[in-house]
Amino acid sequence: MPEFSVVGGGVAGLVAARRLAASGAAVTLFEASDRLGGTVARHEVAGITLDAGAESFAVRGGAVEALLTELGMAGDIVAPAPGPAWLQPADGDAVPLPATALLGIPSDPLADDVVRVIGREAAERAVALDAAPVAAVPPTLGALVRERLGSDVLDRLVAPVVHGVHSQHPDDVPVARAHPGLTDAVTAAGSLSGAVSRLRAAAPPGSAVAGIRRGIHRLVPALAEDLGNLGGDIRLGTRVGDLDALGGTVVVAGPGIAAPAGPGRRIDLVTLVVEQDELDVAPRGSGMLVARGAPVGARALTHATAKWAWLREAAAGRHVLRLSYDATPADPVASARADAETMLGVRLPVVAGAAVVSWTRPAPAAPPTGTTVVGETVAGSGLAGIVAHAERTAAQLLGR
Ligand SMILES: Cc1cc2nc3c(=O)[nH]c(=O)nc-3n(C[C@H](O)[C@H](O)[C@H](O)COP(=O)(O)OP(=O)(O)OC[C@H]3O[C@@H](n4cnc5c(N)ncnc54)[C@H](O)[C@@H]3O)c2cc1C
Repeated sequence: MPEFSVVGGGVAGLVAARRLAASGAAVTLFEASDRLGGTVARHEVAGITLDAGAESFAVRGGAVEALLTELGMAGDIVAPAPGPAWLQPADGDAVPLPATALLGIPSDPLADDVVRVIGREAAERAVALDAAPVAAVPPTLGALVRERLGSDVLDRLVAPVVHGVHSQHPDDVPVARAHPGLTDAVTAAGSLSGAVSRLRAAAPPGSAVAGIRRGIHRLVPALAEDLGNLGGDIRLGTRVGDLDALGGTVVVAGPGIAAPAGPGRRIDLVTLVVEQDELDVAPRGSGMLVARGAPVGARALTHATAKWAWLREAAAGRHVLRLSYDATPADPVASARADAETMLGVRLPVVAGAAVVSWTRPAPAAPPTGTTVVGETVAGSGLAGIVAHAERTAAQLLGR
């Protein structure tokens, strides 16, 4: 019987281990901490069970939906409330982000909702730049947007969206990781805005993200239970330091062991449960992103009770706000409350509960020689890419 050792019990490790065990292989999964799930975690704030990390997944590619279906959870997949995200600009009032954009890249720079954010002059400059013939597509999203649409589009639209999604500046995000089809679409369309139009037209209708009723964290016990049923051996509280000491083929799914290319990124998440009836109408939709230079410390805000119907019901009239930071403010709850007041345009006199969670995300890693690596260090941040990559990698190992 083939034997595998999987190091790391986040979603990547659990998905790979489950797929390997389903083939009849003997699988042992080692997790350093005393719980599975890694960045997919739960906590209670003001008596409401909430996601403490990831709270949605991209529907692109269908890998997470397929996994949830196999786990018997297809009926629990939920769509967020429709509507655009909003932007807190460097100056002036919050504005809705352009409706026909991809990662903030507009399909029509002269559309009213684009001009409202970047101004007419910058919009006309974007059109002129994007009319130039495409020679080679630059390697990073930042370079691509700057070259084709100019720095106003990059700074005021794309950077806040990409920072909100990837926790990175577009200059640090390879084009292929931002969107796997973007390079080919730019070449085929002969312009960046044309590429966005094509990709949007080709995308299935409906929201780009989905959630799980009662929280994404429910994926973790479902995966663990299935892995156990398939004969997988789960060892919590076991930090692996020496891969050579493990039995069978080793799969590294823990960022603690793959050699990182640099220091990790810090993401602090402050969750507030507030009482404020003016939020019932969701004045800024389900969430906001922040442009560089804006008068708030947070880089994104999710109005979670406006986004998810199941949560609105669970919160029983209260509102759940999630604010993310690149570094914890000195007084995180007070800062988050002040930032939320600025961003949402309402006073928040009653905070019924609050929680602060600090995550360190790994830098991309060089795989240890001869070892198979899955997870965020190689597949990038986000469950859609991680699940698809872990499934693919397990299938390749089984096919050897
Ligand atoms: C605040 C926040 C919000 C997010 N929101 C979203 C979202 O809404 N949608 C989305 O798609 N993505 C989101 N993400 C990103 C997503 O959660 C991660 O990309 C994904 O969960 C990473 O999974 P992973 O298995 O690769 O790594 P991790 O979740 O980091 O798991 C790795 C596991 O390996 C263990 N480990 C490490 N070293 C060792 C070792 N030596 N021995 C044994 N075990 C070890 C760790 O303890 C950990 O449990 C968010 C991330 C954060 C921080």
